[in-house]
Amino acid sequence: MKWRPIITAGLICAGAAGVALWVIRARLVGHWLEVHTGTVNEPGPYYGFWSGFGSDLTEFAIIGTIATGVYQLVKKYNCHQPGCWRVGNNPAAARQFSLCYRHHPGYQGSEPTLELIQRLHKEHLERQAAMLSKLHEVHQHLTDNPAAANGVFGPGTPAAQAARSGITQTDPGTLDGPGDPRDT
Ligand SMILES: [Zn+2]
Repeated sequence: MKWRPIITAGLICAGAAGVALWVIRARLVGHWLEVHTGTVNEPGPYYGFWSGFGSDLTEFAIIGTIATGVYQLVKKYNCHQPGCWRVGNNPAAARQFSLCYRHHPGYQGSEPTLELIQRLHKEHLERQAAMLSKLHEVHQHLTDNPAAANGVFGPGTPAAQAARSGITQTDPGTLDGPGDPRDT
């Protein structure tokens, strides 16, 4: 069960209920609050509240919205290692994780040096080139033998039959080995 959304929703509900209670029972919150929020010595029971402190309630909503936005931004750019407060800009495991340099498995806990950056870049280019040449090779093979392209994976092709017979017709002698001459 995911507790974080439940806790968040609960906190929001509690906050809303608190604000609602505060507004409804503003006269009972106490003299200290009345003095400090400017709700005392005004004509009418709620005039002071609504022209003073109460008029700022909408600003609390705006502040709450901004706080939520900041929280979401932090969640987006924060390192995925639990408890880490650094910015995590380094993707790992096909972008499943965004990690800071200290928690990225490729950087061994320290900031990537120029040498490491150049080496990783070179390795990346070499991998790309190897993959491309392999792809080109397969493509060339398929265009050279259209018959093979049609039936490589079919059950009745000579290749598949050869593979099956290879499994079933294995010579038992080769499996057991030639046998120890001392046995005879
Ligand atoms: Zn981290």
